[in-house]
Amino acid sequence: MRSYSLIAPAKINLYLEIIGDRPDGYHELSMVLQSIDLGDRVEIRANGTEDFRIHCQHPEVPCDRTNLAYRAAELLKTNYPEAFEQYGGADIFIDKQIPVAAGLAGGSSNAAAVLVGLEMLWDLGLTQPELHDLASQLGSDIPFCITGGTALATGRGNELEPLPDLEGLYVILAKYRSLGVSTAWAYQTYRQQFGSSYVRESPDLAARQKRVHSGPIVKAIALRDEMKVVECLHNDLEKVVLPEYPQVLKLRQTFEQCDVLGTLMSGSGPTVFALTDSREKAEQIRAQVQNTLGNPDLNFWIAKFINTGIQLAPGVH
Ligand code: ATP
Repeated sequence: MRSYSLIAPAKINLYLEIIGDRPDGYHELSMVLQSIDLGDRVEIRANGTEDFRIHCQHPEVPCDRTNLAYRAAELLKTNYPEAFEQYGGADIFIDKQIPVAAGLAGGSSNAAAVLVGLEMLWDLGLTQPELHDLASQLGSDIPFCITGGTALATGRGNELEPLPDLEGLYVILAKYRSLGVSTAWAYQTYRQQFGSSYVRESPDLAARQKRVHSGPIVKAIALRDEMKVVECLHNDLEKVVLPEYPQVLKLRQTFEQCDVLGTLMSGSGPTVFALTDSREKAEQIRAQVQNTLGNPDLNFWIAKFINTGIQLAPGVH
């Protein structure tokens, strides 16, 4: 039986601005997304049956049809029934390293890996735009998870423009193990609290979209001016998540007091990250925050910026 083993990296948001409501009911966003070398391993193995089966040891990850990886497989089956007839189902093994419900796109990245892996397993010969279209149907972050690197994401987050790589940056991520934030809750609460200031008219939305492409963070990345990039770190969702979760606010404040280049909550949280320029400094900052907060529920990860999305795992196929 053929199989592919893939690395599915997490992402952080260096920038997240909510611009307004789109006619399709989603939020119009402007984001800068960055892949990091903290990733799940996703193995897709043809199983000669008519089923997809998810295998994952993580207690918070469902192994049923609600798993985003399962939904990715179903989407390909619906779109390419002849391939499914010919090749059959697959076992999907997820070795979870990315914290769950953490604003790091773990589920999205798993779904991206299944699209890429099954595409190879079924010899579909899809083009990047075709794969991108399928990914967009599943979730807004999934197209980015496929290509990865550094990118500007607009629309509902699925319209991508690659940006020059940001190299040599390290990230310290911290998350309270027992704390998860629902992405849907964060966006709904934002709409309730700040909806009155949304851009609504199409011409205004178009003007704002245009402005995003020459915004300060995009310019700083184009110039590879890392100091300027870290000055531009921004996440609108902090306005609703930090007041609701004082622990997360305290964590962010503790990072701010350390010798970091910058700090921010990622996506809808509750993960907070800080940037630095070496692994040694990252280790020092981790120790300092751990000592200051002294909370055994707090987990840390250190990762590096990478310029890739879904990749074959080294040494296996
Ligand atoms: P995003 O940043 O894309 O909003 P997230 O990183 O905050 O996502 P996920 O780790 O993707 O959140 O998990 C969100 C919820 O989705 C979890 O509570 C989990 O029950 C469910 N889920 C479904 N499939 C997966 C998967 N493959 N991996 C992780 N969680 C999954």
